[in-house]
Amino acid sequence: MTPSPQRRWLVYAKGFTLALILFTATAVSPVQGENSFDDHQLNLCEFIETLEFNGTNANETVQWQVGIGPRTPGSEASALLRANFTTETEQLGYTVSESNHTSHGIEFTNLFARWNSSAEDADQLVLSAHYDSRNIADRDANETNRSLPVPGANDAASGAAVLLELARLIPSMNLTYDVVIFWNDAEDQNNNYTEGAKAWADNLTVEEQERTKAFVLLDMVGDADLQLHNVHPGNDTLKERIVIMAEDLGMVDDVADCAGQPGEDILRYSTTVGVLDDHVHAHELGIPSIDLMDTVYGEPKYGTFGTYWHTMEDTPDKVSAESLAYVGRLVELGLRTNAFIIEEPPSTTDDDNVDDEQHQSTPTVVEHEEGNRALSYVAMFAFFSVIALLSYVEWASKRR
Ligand SMILES: [Zn+2]
Repeated sequence: MTPSPQRRWLVYAKGFTLALILFTATAVSPVQGENSFDDHQLNLCEFIETLEFNGTNANETVQWQVGIGPRTPGSEASALLRANFTTETEQLGYTVSESNHTSHGIEFTNLFARWNSSAEDADQLVLSAHYDSRNIADRDANETNRSLPVPGANDAASGAAVLLELARLIPSMNLTYDVVIFWNDAEDQNNNYTEGAKAWADNLTVEEQERTKAFVLLDMVGDADLQLHNVHPGNDTLKERIVIMAEDLGMVDDVADCAGQPGEDILRYSTTVGVLDDHVHAHELGIPSIDLMDTVYGEPKYGTFGTYWHTMEDTPDKVSAESLAYVGRLVELGLRTNAFIIEEPPSTTDDDNVDDEQHQSTPTVVEHEEGNRALSYVAMFAFFSVIALLSYVEWASKRR
């Protein structure tokens, strides 16, 4: 039986449509791998039931840090913080080390607590936050305060505290990869930023670079009015996974969480903010990196990270156990579901075009966009092509 030319056209059109749909589906769906996040994301709600992160504990660690005084590099408070974090993580079974550096006349110390999984040649994940507090409150409204060191409750006792609380949970997680908890120093001194993270990246061996599947940074994550923005630069896969997890955790405005409750407006990834933070040095090495950061602390104020930022107002009463718990649970979920183990070749990123003049003290809102625009265009194009083709075939066959 030989189909008529019109029929043959229709068959071709249907075949083409099917191919297009399959192609689009393949392009859009993530790569599946054993024990990967793509497997686990189907059961995120089950994982969420097992989360143990305790925001009250983390908040106590924030208060303790502020209580010991400004943690400026080389200070007694800085040494006391390291001594305490070292004692606790060593007791938990971590291998703890320090590295000393000097840059721009600042002597500083990075602190590392390594959790080794039992797997051989394991991948590793680096979780980082800065533990130094800024030496000058140069954004304070009161001029006489501007030479004083900030209390640094949110910037960055919050991130350092979330890491310590996660350190308490990691040993019982049975992870198949190593975790390096990296409390970096000298992020925020005078006009010198991210010195500790840069020193770490500069001294990373090629073997360590290749083993490091992601660099996850926490900065200013304790704000009682928590809003996490889409920080540029950052790895797209990590960002997509953060959004997926945050939705189920009730951190995305009006999106139902696992309990069916509408989410809070915490993860606001429609707002992209350019921040040259600690994660940039890993990012430049091609390590998938992300910065979880609240870029509006206090009231929004143009050209700053909010009215409390780098002022004497950065005190523990502005930080909440609830906010610390949201971020802690998000990262804990990521740890348990392998969300931060990114198996992709080093990206020849096209998002490296960050203005060199931006740094942690001069935020820029890069752009506002809703969802993944590029992907929507592909899907829309495919959809309309199919409609157009079918209409044409329909029209052509009727015309004969
Ligand atoms: Zn700061």
